[in-house]
Amino acid sequence: MKKIIFTVCTLFGILGTASNGVFAEQAAATVTPEMQTLNHAILKQLIEINTTANYGTTAAAKAIAERLLEAGFPADDVQLLAPDNHPERANVVVRLRGQNKAKPLLFIGHLDVVEALREDWTLDPFRLTEQDGWLYGRGTIDMKGQDSVVLTSLIALKKQGFVPERDIIAAFTADEEQGDANGVEWLLEAHRPLVDAGLVINPDGGEAGLQNGKHLYLVMQTSEKIYATFKLEVTDKGGHSSAPTAANPIYRLARALEKLSTFRFPVDMTATNRLYFERRSRLEQGQLRDDMLQMSRPHPGKAVLERLSANSLVDILMRTTCTATMIQGGHAENALPQRAEAMIQCRIVPGESPELIRQTLARVVNDKSMSIQPVTRITLSPESKPDPAVLAPLEKLVHSMWPGVEVIPQMSPGASDSIYTRAAGIPTFGIDAMFTDIDDDRFHGKDERISEHAFNEELEFMYRLMRDLSVVP
Ligand SMILES: [Zn+2]
Repeated sequence: MKKIIFTVCTLFGILGTASNGVFAEQAAATVTPEMQTLNHAILKQLIEINTTANYGTTAAAKAIAERLLEAGFPADDVQLLAPDNHPERANVVVRLRGQNKAKPLLFIGHLDVVEALREDWTLDPFRLTEQDGWLYGRGTIDMKGQDSVVLTSLIALKKQGFVPERDIIAAFTADEEQGDANGVEWLLEAHRPLVDAGLVINPDGGEAGLQNGKHLYLVMQTSEKIYATFKLEVTDKGGHSSAPTAANPIYRLARALEKLSTFRFPVDMTATNRLYFERRSRLEQGQLRDDMLQMSRPHPGKAVLERLSANSLVDILMRTTCTATMIQGGHAENALPQRAEAMIQCRIVPGESPELIRQTLARVVNDKSMSIQPVTRITLSPESKPDPAVLAPLEKLVHSMWPGVEVIPQMSPGASDSIYTRAAGIPTFGIDAMFTDIDDDRFHGKDERISEHAFNEELEFMYRLMRDLSVVP
């Protein structure tokens, strides 16, 4: 998962205070040229191992394990693990041992990438191509680039003899994009002690945006909407179409859908949402800025809610949404239908109960003969409250590297592997500083790329973040 959510929003009138991405003078440059070279070599190696669903992740996981052993990690602390029924979907988990002052700090990163076809791309997606200051290849930004910086940072810390206050673990995993051997879920289930942690950082869930070369914001993803699909079903005994009845399931379903089409769930302001609107307002101007600021306070008022809701990309951050996605009915052109059904796809604000959402749908539809049942597995995943113990050092680091850049806590409408760690009770934050242009969204797309400059900055950022967060507050 990786999605620039601001792209289609009205990010007009960017404040002039954002930096040009030059490191602030006072910030110590901690990354060495050797680390940059290693980072580049790891990225090249990972890009050139195809990890799409057809190939799996085992080759990439093995390559990482070899590098870790070479760097001096003891074999016991480098675990290559795959489910018995999916040996081609391996994960690798490494631990840098610390002083045990708190539960470990865990970084997660998926190794699989979405398909990329040579004929769709300008360049070979499974070769790292350097061109005009850009690095091209499938996975550069989602998320082999992030895997590389996490791995490089960990290897560097090991070689320096750094002993963190708590263990630092990194898990490079399978099947985030698709497939039924999700590495994070499986590791938590089958090898919990290996990945048990007090805090998880998932660079996949974070995002950082720039526009016209100006660094604007860095998102700290604290929560994700819960995915749930319900089937709405109406049945009848049917009959000959020459003798129509009022019980026709297609009409009844149509009436139900009509009611749902205008229904809106109430606004639900989580701790994350309040901070989100407060900080996001600083990137806007005029009425929108005022409205967002109001939104961060109690009782924003009806007019504010209406204006913000009119923008669907803002609306989805404020409430649970459900929408019809599929419809089916009838069995013959000359028969009364015996069945009509529709799929209602919901994205639920964490903390709300899917069962209550189901009951609300039933109440709106108001037809007792209609069945509404979930048809997808629902993984409940709570919000990780924007913890100052993470937010404060993160902001300090971001401002030292890019003065003026807003750090914005956010609930994401999509889902990443963080749902599993949050569901397991571990506070999890999506944090990433791979700054990409909000007008040039290439996640999962053609000619995926990252600028060499941004990739080097990402290394600097992740290396320092890893050290900063290993300190026990
Ligand atoms: Zn991803």
